[in-house]
Amino acid sequence: MDLVFRAPRAVTPDGERSCSVGVSGGRIAAVEDYDTLTGDRVVELREDEVLLPGLVDTHVHVNDPGRSDWEGFDTATRAAAAGGVTTLVDMPLNSLPPTVDVTSLDVKRRAAEGRIAVDVGFWGGAVPGNRGELRPLHDAGVFGFKCFLLHSGVDEFAPLDEAGLEEAMRELAAFDGLLIVHAEDAETIGGAPAVHGRSYADFLGSRPRAAENTAIARVLDLARRTGARVHILHLASGDAVPMLAQARADGVRVTAETCPHYLSFVAEEIRDGATEFKCCPPIREAGNREELWRALGDGVLDCVVTDHSPCTPDLKRFDSGDFGDAWGGIAGLQVGLPAVWTGARSRGFTLDDVVRWMAQGPAEQVGLSGKGRIAVGCDADFAVFAPDEAFVVDRTRLQHRNPVSAYHERALAGVVRASWLRGREIALDHPAEPFGEFLTREESTPSVRSGQH
Ligand SMILES: [Zn+2]
Repeated sequence: MDLVFRAPRAVTPDGERSCSVGVSGGRIAAVEDYDTLTGDRVVELREDEVLLPGLVDTHVHVNDPGRSDWEGFDTATRAAAAGGVTTLVDMPLNSLPPTVDVTSLDVKRRAAEGRIAVDVGFWGGAVPGNRGELRPLHDAGVFGFKCFLLHSGVDEFAPLDEAGLEEAMRELAAFDGLLIVHAEDAETIGGAPAVHGRSYADFLGSRPRAAENTAIARVLDLARRTGARVHILHLASGDAVPMLAQARADGVRVTAETCPHYLSFVAEEIRDGATEFKCCPPIREAGNREELWRALGDGVLDCVVTDHSPCTPDLKRFDSGDFGDAWGGIAGLQVGLPAVWTGARSRGFTLDDVVRWMAQGPAEQVGLSGKGRIAVGCDADFAVFAPDEAFVVDRTRLQHRNPVSAYHERALAGVVRASWLRGREIALDHPAEPFGEFLTREESTPSVRSGQH
């Protein structure tokens, strides 16, 4: 072995155990009892540390090129590594150009070249008029296609109307592509009171649960009729959980994710004018938060990913605190793991659960068979995590580009002490040689619910 980890505690697909993990050529070559393996280099974890598979975050807006003052491949991937995330998949919008054809995918890959500290894959976009680009993008290796059903926040990435949605799903079904949907219904939101001003309650009222529920019902109905694979992004409405469970029981090929901020914060505690908490769909009430936790426990939600979506501080409009004017997006890449772990353990969940939601689940959802698990044959990607170490988030010490964070001054449990990518340690506290690689969709059809290996 080139490298051996000796871990008093490690989270493997068979559960938490004491083991040694052997690495050869950047891959996991053996998982054996604690003192069995030897190698050229041995890393002994401390008693208070747990070896986790490197997390997989399939919902990240890097915004580069084009809005690289908001975020960039260098800063986003360093924040990822510092948060124990060793694989991320970049969203097709907010960068310029958006990733809606192969040419724009090439532009994005060139922008990222040599600047990524973790492995990076890409989503494509399904927008009005680009149906003919979907197959070529699929063949070029994107993991699937994102669409909106209402204004996306940026004019260059337009939403699909009902006919456009069905057309995209029929096209994707023809080659078993995956559609990932920002599910909020434009008409429902159009009929809700518009938001101006500093009141969080007014903002919440402007984007009701009904908008999500209606949009999800439509997507599920079309998935039933077209046979397309669909994934619901950033689920924030607990009302929609039974509908998802039923669709799945009926054989509809649907997965769903939620995000650390919906599991951490509640509307009742968000101060007026605190636009660092603005995101869409919005953070809802405390009771709703518990419904999302239950859906994770029941396995209706498969993944927790961050929807890391930063911007420059001025766009958050801290001057006025106006929720109507502020950019909607929360930067959570670096603190997602401790945020989710803090909430999980207080509800009786274990690190096994967190790894299933934040590593194995997202890897399976995008069909990355070599990521998200400590198992023979997988990439040697790890996070060394001290679950009982407490810390307070300081936005100025986070590594994403702009020091804005909804988690600022929040007390969390769990510190990432080291991250390893394909058997190499990533320097977490200073910029070092970025050795991340591009990932492309694997040819085999992902088994959405394969569960244990
Ligand atoms: Zn997003």
